Amino acid sequence: MVEKAVCLISGGLDSCVTSLIAKKQGYEIYAISFNYGQLHKKELDCSNKIAQTVGVEDRIIIDVDFQKFGIFSLLNTSSDSIQDHDLKDIGREIPLTYVPARNTVFLSLALAYAESIDADAIFIGANAVDYSGYPDCRPEYIQAYQKMADLGTKKGVEGRSIKIEAPLLHLTKSEIIKTGLKLDAPLADTWSCYRGGELACGRCDSCVLRLKGFKDVGVKDPLRYERYPDWYTS
Ligand SMILES: [Zn+2]
Repeated sequence: MVEKAVCLISGGLDSCVTSLIAKKQGYEIYAISFNYGQLHKKELDCSNKIAQTVGVEDRIIIDVDFQKFGIFSLLNTSSDSIQDHDLKDIGREIPLTYVPARNTVFLSLALAYAESIDADAIFIGANAVDYSGYPDCRPEYIQAYQKMADLGTKKGVEGRSIKIEAPLLHLTKSEIIKTGLKLDAPLADTWSCYRGGELACGRCDSCVLRLKGFKDVGVKDPLRYERYPDWYTS
């Protein structure tokens, strides 16, 4: 019997490549996406396209209103609240774009979905190398979540653990892009920018890390940007 996997598809590059890895491993894919008031709603349109390209069995979008807890810079305020960073300063401290306990909330809903449909794995595009320094993207976090999932679900207690798979955890952004290119990932349909503009800004942490990845691979990013860092075009 084909095994099922729940994939968190945000619409970003990492979750796109992750879902294709899951597909390649032979899983039937069940996508889950979240509308949490993010400034970059474009992500959700991208997640639609990615889900179509990957060929998912089903896809659910869950509304989680983080705004009820207060205003965070990634949520619908204004794109001015997003900080610009030089490459060298990214990941030094937890940035303002951190959304409180986001991955724990998302993974918990994915876990409930997975157990409901008797899925064997959950795939998340967490990455702890070229990332913004979020605590809920680190290997020790994923390990701890696995333990919790084994203890806190009927499947886990019965010894049918739902595996939390984070295949990009230890890859650099350029390795993720290379993997995506090998898997024919629809990279032009992925959105990484934290701002909600027509074009990607080219200045936020997420744009800078993505552009650095493409630069390292030596391939042009198919996404259009408002502007590019000097080092990208030089
Ligand atoms: Zn950006």
